[in-house]
Amino acid sequence: MTMAAQKTETEAQAGNKDMKEIVALCKRRGFIFPASEIYGGFNGFWDYGPLGAELKNNIRDLWWKAMVTTPPLGPDGQPLQIVGLDSSIIQNPKLWEASGHTTSFSDPMVDCRETKKRYRADHLLIYKDRGGALPWVAVFEGDEADEDAAKRMKKVAKNISVENCDVSVLTDLEVSDFEKIIGPDAKEVGTLTEPKEFNLMFKTYVGATASEDNVAYLRPETCGGIFVNYRNVLDTARVKVPFGIAQIGKAYRNEVTPRNFIFRSREFEQMEMEWFCHPDDAAEWRQFWIDERTKWWKSIGLKDTSLIHREHDADELAHYAKEGVGTVDIEFQFPFSWPGFGELEGVAHRCDYDLSKHQEHSGQKMEYIDPHTNERYIPHVIEPASGLTRGVLAVICDAYTVDESRPSGVFMDFHPSVAPKKAAILPLTAKGAHPEIATKLYMELREHYAIDLDIKQNIGKRYARQDEIGTPYCFTIDDQTAEDGTVTVRDRNTMAQERIHLDNILSFLREKIG
Ligand code: ATP
Repeated sequence: MTMAAQKTETEAQAGNKDMKEIVALCKRRGFIFPASEIYGGFNGFWDYGPLGAELKNNIRDLWWKAMVTTPPLGPDGQPLQIVGLDSSIIQNPKLWEASGHTTSFSDPMVDCRETKKRYRADHLLIYKDRGGALPWVAVFEGDEADEDAAKRMKKVAKNISVENCDVSVLTDLEVSDFEKIIGPDAKEVGTLTEPKEFNLMFKTYVGATASEDNVAYLRPETCGGIFVNYRNVLDTARVKVPFGIAQIGKAYRNEVTPRNFIFRSREFEQMEMEWFCHPDDAAEWRQFWIDERTKWWKSIGLKDTSLIHREHDADELAHYAKEGVGTVDIEFQFPFSWPGFGELEGVAHRCDYDLSKHQEHSGQKMEYIDPHTNERYIPHVIEPASGLTRGVLAVICDAYTVDESRPSGVFMDFHPSVAPKKAAILPLTAKGAHPEIATKLYMELREHYAIDLDIKQNIGKRYARQDEIGTPYCFTIDDQTAEDGTVTVRDRNTMAQERIHLDNILSFLREKIG
């Protein structure tokens, strides 16, 4: 398919999805709630409700299976060696000094002198009137930037309009131009300060005294714990280079402007794997992992046309990267990034940066001695690093399908492997034989699949609920079930109904869901 054709199809998919509607559905059906909502929420923190927790666990388990339990076959046709790890969130702070996070893990931020608010400088868009009228209007980047800018313009000046503006990112402007800008929440012009680097790590104190000597950090990424356990794993797990160590867990970043629902939050989960290989083979392994990881995202349901690869430009290379061997991002077309894409996973060539730094700082040898050739070297690392919670958002956005023809107006087209419930059992009436048969069926099926037994409300409302939570199949028990043992099975996507015998339901699910 040509790029142009691919883009048109992609636009048609994400373009009609409204982020506000998606967030509302997540709340309404119990996928995701604002953290501490009864106290007004807490910016950048989210809680996963009953269905969100199941969806997240399903994605997490599928990643672990694909990486650790049954890793892919390598170029020689043999299974790769990847082992799992579960390291502490809080580590010795020397780890983050060695990895460069204490000094370099930062984003540029600006303060507003008037409102005392702080913004991420590279996330502010500046609307500059072509005719030279002032002020220049600052708003957050995102799909509503034009709307926000238009609203701001109405408030601050009548003679400017979005159509007559050029747009720049704040960090691309000269600081001397800042005096022309009105901040996103300000009343006065020229109150934004020069951008300064702001470290994203959350600090805490370990032990009883809150002194600088006791400072520690919540990990900003899960890979740090992998590197400090590289020697332990090498010495105990009977692995040989090339091999991988995989970890899933929470990570914390004090993001200046958490935005776009769970896309950028302050507490989130990552799924990371460090692949230790010979330096000469690193480029080939990088391509291998870009391909494998893209295949995996598609295997859990993300549409081919919603994903792209993006090679990092030289100016955005991470502090460990050497030019020419950088990171490729796997990006997904989120409704708020549409028609653009947002990062879902980065596949980075980290060279020998981390192991060399830990060798230097800890004094412990990180060299690998090849058992066949006796060659000594520090392995290079290819790192597929993805966001589990960001993956949940991608899966939710991809699944969200508007369909005016059904009562819910929308259904979640989850791939069966990630769907929180694989099937629902719905007795037509709440009393008598229907619920009895339904309960018996539920007790059998729940041994094999996550099943919802929903007894109350009229059947239309129950179908609507199952459509909105993305349950692939509904089995309805009615009078005929008592007579001939058949139930209605309703397909979520087509809404087509057929009758199958109770005895065949398990094999039906096995065939359809796996
Ligand atoms: P970004 O450019 O979006 O800030 P990053 O390049 O700093 O992300 P990495 O350090 O490569 O991200 O982290 C790996 C993955 O972790 C990302 O691809 C993303 O899926 C996830 N991730 C990173 N920061 C956040 C966050 N604040 N909230 C949710 N997920 C995140």
